[in-house]
Amino acid sequence: MSHDTIDTLLTEDRVFPPSESFAAQANVNDPEIYARAAADRQAYWANWASQLRWMEPWHTVSDWQLPYAKWFIGGRLNACDNCVDRHVDEGRGDKVAFIAEGEPGDVRTFTYAEVKTHVSRLGNALKAMGVAKGDRVCLYMPMGPELCFAMLACARIGAAHSVVFGGFSAESLHERITDAGAKLVVTADGSWRNGKVVPLKEITDAALAKGAPSVTGVLVYERVGEPSGNVPDYNRGAWHEGRDQWWHDVVDAQSDDCPCEPMDAEDLLYILYTSGSTGKPKGIMHTTGGYLTGVYATAQWVFDLKDSDIYWCTADCGWVTGHSYVVYGPMANGVTQVLYEGSPAVPDKDRFWRIIERHRVTILYTAPTAIRMFMQWGEEYPNRCDLSSLRLLGSVGEPINPEAWMWYRRVIGGERCPIVDTWWQTETGAIMITPLPGISGTKPGSATRPFPGVAATLMNEEGQELNLDSGDPEGTGGILALTEPWPSMLRGIWGDPERYQQTYWSRFPGKYFPGDGCKVDGDGSYWLLGRVDDIMLVSGHNISTMEVESALVAHEAVAEAAVIGKQHAIKGQAIAAFVILRASHRVDPTSPEGEARIAELKAWVAAKIGAIARPDDIYISADLPKTRSGKIMRRLLRDVAEGRALGDTTTLADPNVVASLKTQYEEKEG
Ligand code: ATP
Ligand code: MG
Repeated sequence: MSHDTIDTLLTEDRVFPPSESFAAQANVNDPEIYARAAADRQAYWANWASQLRWMEPWHTVSDWQLPYAKWFIGGRLNACDNCVDRHVDEGRGDKVAFIAEGEPGDVRTFTYAEVKTHVSRLGNALKAMGVAKGDRVCLYMPMGPELCFAMLACARIGAAHSVVFGGFSAESLHERITDAGAKLVVTADGSWRNGKVVPLKEITDAALAKGAPSVTGVLVYERVGEPSGNVPDYNRGAWHEGRDQWWHDVVDAQSDDCPCEPMDAEDLLYILYTSGSTGKPKGIMHTTGGYLTGVYATAQWVFDLKDSDIYWCTADCGWVTGHSYVVYGPMANGVTQVLYEGSPAVPDKDRFWRIIERHRVTILYTAPTAIRMFMQWGEEYPNRCDLSSLRLLGSVGEPINPEAWMWYRRVIGGERCPIVDTWWQTETGAIMITPLPGISGTKPGSATRPFPGVAATLMNEEGQELNLDSGDPEGTGGILALTEPWPSMLRGIWGDPERYQQTYWSRFPGKYFPGDGCKVDGDGSYWLLGRVDDIMLVSGHNISTMEVESALVAHEAVAEAAVIGKQHAIKGQAIAAFVILRASHRVDPTSPEGEARIAELKAWVAAKIGAIARPDDIYISADLPKTRSGKIMRRLLRDVAEGRALGDTTTLADPNVVASLKTQYEEKEG
């Protein structure tokens, strides 16, 4: 019965072309750029690379020995030099690099010249603590300027950083420190989150107590200070003489002179573990020249960066988005950006909008999970604030449901700002499928087209390439594949070449397999449909979880939905949905109103996309299991719905959520 392509059910035909005034001022507004880039990808990428500052030129643009690519062979450069020193040398030293707001409300600003001083001192401190070129340094820090300094200082001296998100447990931190063989850990006493202190140093101590022979030192930034007054009681960890050093003791005393190490284009810049939505995280490796080229180019064109912009990417540097679109991409372009340490709900649910108002943010880049949370909270919070400075909005991390997209456009963007829905992965390093805001007609829920110079296609289950120009206005559903190497592509999985080959290159020989389902419509726009592993097979039809979720989210009562296929004797799989209701539409699921609401939602989905997509079960829930980066973990919901023991939960933000769903489910099913 198996179909070999994805049936695309939901139709969405709203199109928003760029306004004339936006297009006129855009960094790129010539649609011919796609064809020009495709005609000679090597020349196109080489042109981008040549806009960086090189210490030695490359002799060969690229070399492709499947599954390994090299770019800008023979060239030497330093990523920190391009992100910091270059701006100072070219007269932009007084430009503000960071406006850093802490959760308690403290605001600090740093010019590019000041960043250079901080990073140079830190680079010298790392060297003084024994870090040499080629070593790995683990960064387990609050989201803030010091984390950016630490990343840049590693790049400056030629050490690779491995940033671990400050919400991970001691176990997860330990696993990542030992896997990377980190020589040093840079951490802080704590970080502010939700009015409380996350005790980063105590967690680091616990991680190292499990045994980490590679680690010879711990550098501790004092972010929070001793408990007293406004600082709640928290555990500051024990001081390990000979291992631990305070940042203010070691760094502040260093010289400002720390030359940038000339790095080979293919030298390792960093390792970053994926967020673990689908399984055990992978240590993704990125190198220097190609990666910097990819993030520099995409940041400039996708976000339409201008000298006058105040840019804010809300991602933590614990995720790839923070690497590529807080540190390397924007800084290589010399932007002024906002950094925010804490929760969007402190002191109130309008915190993000207050930040935009206060700092006159012009570009906002955030995640669908945040947008759906804001929808759930209600419009009154953004409506209180002046958001008129915004001129461009971005989305990343998951497919964005059309309804969330429309809300983002109307409530946050004032119907005026183009939205760039950017598809990419830790592995791709840079944005791969995205609108170009001066060119693309955007469609709610579509990431539109591969970035110029990126080549994509769709495959079927049998490994055949699908014809994307079939003329079928409904479009074609299949499995996304990337067909040409690109500069910022991963160079492997740290310590596991077999898994690298297996995960990305074995499904479709010669093509990169990202693991996502996708539809290409009659206009050639790409609609990302979620993980291939999540696609449901209902009565012989492949249905994407994303489409059913989007139908649910389009109902006025629903803020968020997660859909899974659970085993069914007759249909193969039956659709089960977990939904969170908006604050204004809360009901008790066991009450008659609750039951009526569930029946209404089932009928709603059937009416919106067809009887085949009607969910068998809908569970009203207060929360959904998510990774620490906010992505829904459907594999755990499948475990719940099929009554299995839960799989790996170490990357969950809050294990209680799935445990309570399990109890709720078991009570209901008896
Ligand atoms: P793991 O690989 O460990 O399971 P992960 O895939 O969640 O974790 P990331 O690299 O952070 O780790 O996420 C990349 C994935 O996020 C993509 O493969 C895709 O499924 C999803 N994604 C990101 N941006 C978008 C987008 N704009 N539209 C649709 N999906 C997106
Ligand atoms: Mg992934």
